[in-house]
Amino acid sequence: MLYELLPSGNADVLALSLASFDPISEEPVFRDIQYDIRRHGHYEANHHPSIFFAPVSEGTTVVMNSPGDNRWKGCDCPLCTPALTTFVGIPLKVGTNVIGMLGLANRDGGYPNDDIREMEKYGQTCALAIASAKAELDRKQAREQLRQAQKMEAIGQLAGGIAHDFNNLLTVINGYSTLLLQKITNNDQMRKEVEQILNAGERASTLIRQLLAFGRRQMLEPRLLNINTLIAGLHKILCRLIGENVTLSTKLAVDVGMVKADPSQIEQIIMNLVINARDALERGGTITVETANRYLDRDFVRKNGGSVAGDYVLITVRDTGMGMSEEIIGRIFEPFFTTKEQGYGTGLGLATVYGIVKQSNGYIQVQSVVGMGTEFRVYLPRVAETMNQNTGGDILPLTAERGATTGLILIVEDERAVLDLSAITLRTHGYDVLTAPGPQEALKLFERFSEKIDLLLTDVMMPSMSGPDMVQIMLAKRPDLKVVFMSGYTDERLSVSDFSEERLTFIMKPFNPASLVNLISDNIRRPDGQASPETPHE
Ligand code: ADP
Ligand code: MG
Repeated sequence: MLYELLPSGNADVLALSLASFDPISEEPVFRDIQYDIRRHGHYEANHHPSIFFAPVSEGTTVVMNSPGDNRWKGCDCPLCTPALTTFVGIPLKVGTNVIGMLGLANRDGGYPNDDIREMEKYGQTCALAIASAKAELDRKQAREQLRQAQKMEAIGQLAGGIAHDFNNLLTVINGYSTLLLQKITNNDQMRKEVEQILNAGERASTLIRQLLAFGRRQMLEPRLLNINTLIAGLHKILCRLIGENVTLSTKLAVDVGMVKADPSQIEQIIMNLVINARDALERGGTITVETANRYLDRDFVRKNGGSVAGDYVLITVRDTGMGMSEEIIGRIFEPFFTTKEQGYGTGLGLATVYGIVKQSNGYIQVQSVVGMGTEFRVYLPRVAETMNQNTGGDILPLTAERGATTGLILIVEDERAVLDLSAITLRTHGYDVLTAPGPQEALKLFERFSEKIDLLLTDVMMPSMSGPDMVQIMLAKRPDLKVVFMSGYTDERLSVSDFSEERLTFIMKPFNPASLVNLISDNIRRPDGQASPETPHE
């Protein structure tokens, strides 16, 4: 057997050659080894480090020429338990560096010194060959990973940019459709037609949200989460999704750690993976959803570019479906990549999953064999249980002193149609509204009316000055000013600015008039300048 010694002290078996007359050749462990080598290029021999690997990795040849050698004792690993009688372990050295081991076993009468010297020389040649092959492979993998990362980054930017522009358009389309519907009576013929527009607009919003998720520009609302609880809560929906001839089995680790993530996003990940698994199970089968705690060590990080060592919670979604070829695996995370018939796939499911996992500082892996099935592994960073629980979602006490729908609101938005729509919506609901098409105009209005303004509703990205910068100026004068940001995506400048989390209330574009009105009335009712904990997504 040819081993590669890993920095962790473990070893991988790279090659195995069996003599057919040796009865131990029949041991099942050797079939496993051969299977793994054929499939993955190596077999992980994560055992008996003390007996062979430790002395060999110091550069010493280990010889055990007698079955009575007590060094066998104490090791019950699957490689030592078969009837081993004799053994030689020869270090494979490049210079003074030991990179592997050549292991031979069960020669009758043991291994004479001359033979061992011969094999040590042979080991030198092996070492050089392995080292240069590995270096070439590493270079190739690094190039491939870089290429893949650059491709995803470029597509992400493009998708995020497009989504941002469409958000503004859809806010207008959906907003005015909603306003129109409020004006049209129920039996008006036009009602159906406007409803069609709104319907299509809302479907477009869903697509845009997925693109934003892929572009990692989605607003996240991370909380301390137990993944098991979340999966248990999804179970019913998942069963309904997968239909009758597919079995859903869940194996949740009892001690699974906590993660800090946005629950709706994690649900999205699981749903998308399960839906894909169902689609791969045309003739029925099993989908397994598992959770576990995992520590990703240096070996893992070395083999999986882009991963970071540490403690994670692992979510596995496995199916016994049709599997994927290597070419398909190389493209599955691209938005709009689908192998499904027109009308069946959007190609956004895995792109969304990828975006969310990346944005949550996680890692995703896929393994698949054509005709056998597919396994997706999602690693999310594990956090300490003692972290402060964010008790978002408190119900606001209704204060009666002030009517829920009065107040003066300053709206700042450079997109004219969105500005008009927000103004019309809020006026219709009884608010007084000042509008400004940009920060300069807004600051002028603020100078004049600063004491009268109850709430500021502002865009984040504007050409002359960013929303947050403008807000800082206003807060200097009115520290109690209530502020709501309208945004299409997480803006970097905002995340670095010095707003405390309580100060941040967002409404995601595209939003519908009702959620705008609700959010504004919740915030305006609050006694101080603190934001409402609810920031609706629509
Ligand atoms: P869609 O499902 O709309 O096609 P996805 O991004 O969710 O888009 O998936 C992209 C492609 O990845 C699918 O069209 C399919 O070819 C492949 N795929 C994803 N999950 C699986 C799976 N569990 N088994 C087999 N193929 C899969
Ligand atoms: Mg899908």
